[in-house]
Amino acid sequence: MTSLTEIAPGVLIAISSFALTTTTVVVSSASPGGCLLIDPGVTVAELAGLAAELAERGLTPSAAWSTHPHWDHVLWSAELGAAPRYAVPAAVTVAETERGGILDGAQRDAPGHDLSLVGRLRPLDGPAIPWDGPEARLIVHDGHAPGHGAVFFPGSGVLVAGDMCSDVEIPLLDTAAADPLGEYRTGMERLASVPGVRQVVPGHGHAGDAAEFRRRLAADSAYLDAVSAGKPYGDPRLRDSPEWMRVTHEEQVRYFRS
Ligand SMILES: [Zn+2]
Repeated sequence: MTSLTEIAPGVLIAISSFALTTTTVVVSSASPGGCLLIDPGVTVAELAGLAAELAERGLTPSAAWSTHPHWDHVLWSAELGAAPRYAVPAAVTVAETERGGILDGAQRDAPGHDLSLVGRLRPLDGPAIPWDGPEARLIVHDGHAPGHGAVFFPGSGVLVAGDMCSDVEIPLLDTAAADPLGEYRTGMERLASVPGVRQVVPGHGHAGDAAEFRRRLAADSAYLDAVSAGKPYGDPRLRDSPEWMRVTHEEQVRYFRS
């Protein structure tokens, strides 16, 4: 995992060795020492390093957010403390009903976590995360996963997008949903209509500026247009991609052709 890097005043991100998963830390201006922690991950060693780095900076999580109920976004360690860990209600439901699969995923790709802490989320039904720091507005949709909650910080213009708007991953549809394409497009529209985005932080990949945010939305639209129309599409993100992404791409192609 990279060490925490400040991408905007009071907003720091780190990138994991696992699938370039991002962790976001937003420093509270109101209470010295508090911070909001989004999607901490991924390996046991990385969470230990994150906890140590927060301690070094004099920061303690006062609230946490999981963008969506996939195993790599619902991790925790005892050293991170006992802050409330919130997620969209639909995400909490999935984290509970599909707990077995989440724990299997964590054990397979990031073994050694305290499984009693994995996926323990509180439902939050509201427009923003309640905490003593910068306004953290929620943008909720069901693209990629049910109960996907992006977080926008109007003060800094940072949009923490969850598993959307990635420079390294193609759009990954929730093909178990009734309308995977519609849900994904709705999610993209909601993110695209957030006013004042100056930086986007994807769940996997690298932060990008406003122009890069628009470029990624366009790239994702182009991918979805082609694949949903049954056309061949050589997305540049598939060129040097890991095997699982090429497999998922082929599954998405087949999904729309069947
Ligand atoms: Zn995901």
